[in-house]
Amino acid sequence: MKIMEEFIFHQNFNYKHFTSTILSGNLKDKITRDNFLISQGLRPSDLVLANQVHSANIKIVGNIDSGNFIDNCDGLITNDKSIMLGVFTADCMPLLITNGTIKAAIHAGWKGIYLGIVENTIEVFKNKFSVHVKDIEVYIGPHIRSCCYEVGKNFEDLFNLKLQDNKLDLSRIVFNKLKNLGVVNIFDVNKCTFCQGSYFFSYRQNKTSERMLSLIV
Ligand SMILES: [Zn+2]
Repeated sequence: MKIMEEFIFHQNFNYKHFTSTILSGNLKDKITRDNFLISQGLRPSDLVLANQVHSANIKIVGNIDSGNFIDNCDGLITNDKSIMLGVFTADCMPLLITNGTIKAAIHAGWKGIYLGIVENTIEVFKNKFSVHVKDIEVYIGPHIRSCCYEVGKNFEDLFNLKLQDNKLDLSRIVFNKLKNLGVVNIFDVNKCTFCQGSYFFSYRQNKTSERMLSLIV
C-alpha cells in the first residue's frame, strides 16, 4: 500500500515549493490553511494569493500585498523574497515558475491557457524583470491529465490540435508553449487529480469546492 503524503513536490525543481494533497484538507479555508502553513514552519501573513477568475491576467505583487488576495488575476509574480505565492487548484494546472530571484504562481485551466497566461507570464519574466528564459524553471503540479480530461470536439479548433479519444492533454500543450518560448527546465510531477482521487481534490469528480494549495516560498 502506498502511504499518502501530505504534500508532493518535484525533486529536480531547485526552489522550495510543494502542492498539498487531500491529507492536508481544504486549504481554501483560511483556518485550515493557516494551521497547515504554521505546521510547515511558514508564516500565513507572508502569503499572497489570487482570487482566480480563469483569466490570463498576471499581477506583479510585493510586500505591501502580503496576507492578501489579489483581484481579477490568475497569476502572481514578484521579486520580493519576503513573500510567498500560492495558487488553489482541483483539476486545473498549478504552475510555479522561478529563476531563483523572481517567482510566480499561476492558475492554468484550459481557459487561461487558451487566453495566453503561459505566454503572458514568461513575457513578464523577460521584459519586466530581464530574466533569461534559459534560467527559468517551471514546476507543473497535479492536474486533470489526458487519461481523464474529456472535452468537446471544439477544443481541436481552440488549441489547433487533434484530440485522441476526445481527451485534452493540458500538460503537453503547456510544455510545447514553454518550449516554443525558449524555456528548457520544465518539471512535471506527472500526477492526475481525477484518477488519483484519493490523493487530490477533483472538481470534475464530484464538483468539490475544496482546493489544494501549490506554494512557492
Ligand atoms: Zn487520470
